Parts: sequence; C-alpha cells; structure tokens
Amino acid sequence: MSVYRGRFAPTPSGPLHFGSLVAALGSYLDARHAGGAWLLRIEDIDPPRCPPGAADTILRQLEAFGLHWDGPVHYQSQRNAAYQAALERLISAGLAYPCSCSRKQWRDYAIYPGWCRHGVREPHKPQAWRLRSDLGLRPVAWQDRLFGDQRFDPAELGDVVLKRKDALWAYQLAVVVDDAEQGISDVVRGLDLLDNTPWQCQLQVALGYPEPRYLHLPLIVAANGQKLSKQNLAPALPDDDGAALRRLLHRALLALDQAPDPAAGEAPVAEQLTQAVHDWDPRRLAAERHRRDTS
Ligand code: GLU
Repeated sequence: MSVYRGRFAPTPSGPLHFGSLVAALGSYLDARHAGGAWLLRIEDIDPPRCPPGAADTILRQLEAFGLHWDGPVHYQSQRNAAYQAALERLISAGLAYPCSCSRKQWRDYAIYPGWCRHGVREPHKPQAWRLRSDLGLRPVAWQDRLFGDQRFDPAELGDVVLKRKDALWAYQLAVVVDDAEQGISDVVRGLDLLDNTPWQCQLQVALGYPEPRYLHLPLIVAANGQKLSKQNLAPALPDDDGAALRRLLHRALLALDQAPDPAAGEAPVAEQLTQAVHDWDPRRLAAERHRRDTS
C-alpha cells in the first residue's frame, strides 16, 4: 500500500462542534490505524467568515482530545502564490476563463450556462474565474470507501468558480492544490462535502495531480433531525474539562459506529484513543442510514 497521508481541514468559522469532532476523529483514526501521517490544515481563505482566535481555539480543542497532528499547521491564508500559480496553469491550458455573470442573471438555470466561455460578457464588471467543463473532461468517477461507486456527468456539474469576484480563492481550488502539495493519499471527511468531490476530481485531472482515495463519513444529525453545524449553533466543545471531554470522545466513537467498550467513557482520552486506533474499522460505519440517491 502507498504511504498514507491524511488530513483534517477545518474552516475556522468558530470552535469545533460535535459534528466536526467526529470528522476530525474519523480522519485521525483512519490515518493512525494505517500507520500514516495526519496533517492539520486551517482553511482560512475567507477572512469575513473567520473570527479572530477561532483557529487557535480549534488547535487547543484538538490537543485536548489528544488528536495530535504531524508537522506544522498549514494555513491557507498564506498560500496565495500557490493558488495563483495553479490558476495561471489552468489559464495557459485554456481551461479557466473570467466571468462577469451574477447568480441573478442565470437564476433560471440549474448550473451556470457558460456564457462567458468565449469572452467576458460585461468586461467593466468584477470578474470571477471559472473552470471550463465542456472540453472533453471525462465523466467524473470515484470509488468512495463507504458510499461506493460515484459517477457524475460534467455537463451537470457546470463550470466551477476557482477565484471569486471579490478576489478570494474558492474552496475547490484551494483544497485541491493543498491536498496535492501536501501529498494527501486519503481524504476522510463529512458526507456534506461529497457534492464538492466531483469538482475536486475534475480539477485534479485538469492540473495533472494524483487523485486521493475518498471516505465520506455519515453525518451526525441533531435530535431534531437537522445537520449539526455552526449555523444551527451546535454547542461548542469544551477544551478544558476532563470528564466532559472523556464522555464526548466516547460519544464520538459511538457516532462512528466503533463500538467502544461501554465502560471506557470515563477513561482518559489518551487511553480511549489508543484503543480506538487499534480497533478502527470503517466497515462498521452504517452507510445505509445516510445513503444518498445517486441514480
Ligand atoms: N474546510 C472544509 C470545512 O470545514 C472542509 C474541507 C475538506 O475536508 O475538504 O467544511
């Protein structure tokens, strides 16, 4: 098997909540069980969404749960030159174009219809950069380690934004450049990101990068059936309360269907983690509870 390199890549829009703890834990266990590296990347490319101090809080929370990462923390806010170089490669290959259209203008279409592909329609307006998806990019397919065969028609994906009109880098470009430059072999993350994966696969092909394996984790839903997210104010995780941390780690292992010893909920986090790394088996994840209709 190739060298395993995994990562956790939170957007620091607030502290970790239970759902993001589960995602962090899933990628950590998968990496450590394989004897691989686990890297931490702070995806702070959208400053208005990232309150000061949030990234440091996340680092402290991960440390408190014993989720220690390898190497220096990688901050996307410092990676402008790498993203620019990738965009320029796409432009030179004729695969990226500037676009002045607003969402309002194409609201009657399911995807952006590509009006600016052959020249910007309104050159005096601010412009985004998009990937051309109409140039023979093959159907996007990958074998998700949990959700199985995934296939998408490029014609239904549209021309994804690479750089926004406000000059901020789009998540899709940044994540693909960083996964490649950090040599990530395995992406383990929440199911809410599965819809983004086809664009990321397209970009990997367009940029000549290797394609990592993907494992999307079933989402954790709140008692009211809603997805746990920062928007619906999932309670932030404690980062300094021993007993609460121990129980939360135990609950996170249960959420990953890992059947930890019922008595282990009071055990120190380091002990619970060592056992969980040893026992990790992603086949226990109950994909059918969250299976998507991909037909
Ligand atoms: N930054 C993204 C988020 O926090 C995750 C990116 C990824 O794992 O690919 O939702």
